[in-house]
Amino acid sequence: MVRVRIAPSPTGMAHVGTAYVSLFNLAFARKNGGKFILRIEDTDKKREVEGGIDVIKEGLSWLGLTWDEFYRQSERLSIYKEYAEKLLKEGKAYEEDGGIILKVEKEDVSWKDLVRGEITFPADEVSDFAIIKKDGFPTYNFAVVVDDWQMKVTHVIRAEDHISNTPRQIAAYKALGANIPEFAHVPLLRNKDKSKISKRKNPVALSWYKEEGYLPEALVNFLCLLGWSHPEEKEVFDMDEFVKNFDLERVRKAGPVFDMDKLDWMNGEYIKSMDDKKLADTLAAFYKERYEKDLLTKTAPLVKERIRKLSEYESLASFYYEQPKIDKELFGKDYKDHLESAVEVLESVGKWEANNLGEVLVGVADKKGFHRGDFFMNLRVAVTGKKVTPPFNESVEILGKEETIKRLKTVL
Ligand code: GLU
Repeated sequence: MVRVRIAPSPTGMAHVGTAYVSLFNLAFARKNGGKFILRIEDTDKKREVEGGIDVIKEGLSWLGLTWDEFYRQSERLSIYKEYAEKLLKEGKAYEEDGGIILKVEKEDVSWKDLVRGEITFPADEVSDFAIIKKDGFPTYNFAVVVDDWQMKVTHVIRAEDHISNTPRQIAAYKALGANIPEFAHVPLLRNKDKSKISKRKNPVALSWYKEEGYLPEALVNFLCLLGWSHPEEKEVFDMDEFVKNFDLERVRKAGPVFDMDKLDWMNGEYIKSMDDKKLADTLAAFYKERYEKDLLTKTAPLVKERIRKLSEYESLASFYYEQPKIDKELFGKDYKDHLESAVEVLESVGKWEANNLGEVLVGVADKKGFHRGDFFMNLRVAVTGKKVTPPFNESVEILGKEETIKRLKTVL
């Protein structure tokens, strides 16, 4: 049975690269009816951050990347000790400076990487290495092998920066007399300048993406596309479709650039395709019930085509909730005339409904010989405080007669 895992360290954040590697593992497990393991590498006490494990779990859960089994290396210390001592007894390891060192055969090491093909390290690049440090904790290269072996991991799918660790790990499998799993090294995410993704150049914490108003489905879709291409070149697809079509052979070899503009576009596509009620619920949850539900429900359809992230709702829609401060510099010429004429005609409108309001307003602009575009722009600024807004007539319908006229009068 296929068994795969990810092995993040609890450094205090859930890294977008962890999500990316999880996606490949999860898709591979699901496609093959296997299991996906979350194993926390928490043996380096100096790097561990309080609450770091929960942060990882929350980040992955937010994206819907759920695991079947969970382990912490810190609860398995006696296991690593036991195997290190066994290797000592068998003469396959020796003690030095209080630590334990594995003897490594002087021979070329190769494996057939499922993403990158045959990889070989010449004998002189592999040498003896520490498996237990002098503080008694195992090294990464040893613990990872003991765990993958004991947990019957069949495929190690991880980022390419671990290629150089693989020869040592293969040496450890051999010394332990363990089966060597398959390896698949997927390309690392890159900043625009092609350097390894880093927080100085790109936000990397999943919590940042959540707070910014990216939808988990959109981020997942975006991450899938970064490392993999759909057989029909589709761009927008969900996790089920990813799983169905997933194949390690379609994983890209070149480092994918994390392109924020593309992510924004993708997120916008997901927002546009949401049904109105779901979008209103999503916005309500995102803003922690700060906005009145009834107004949210009415305004969500109007902003849907205009926001790429949930956080953009605020600046676009705040005028629905409170009267904006008006910067008079935004008005065009003759604005007082325009507003006065609008007030006059709006006061006598009976049917306060977008189409009718539109007709009435166009009628007054034409009658008075106003330039229609200038006229509506001035009204827009007076009512919303901005020049770029959701559709005007629909917005005015939502605001209602009294509020709209009040706003127009305020600036007169
Ligand atoms: N802690 C390592 C990482 O997150 C695990 C590497 C591995 O999967 O073996 O990069």
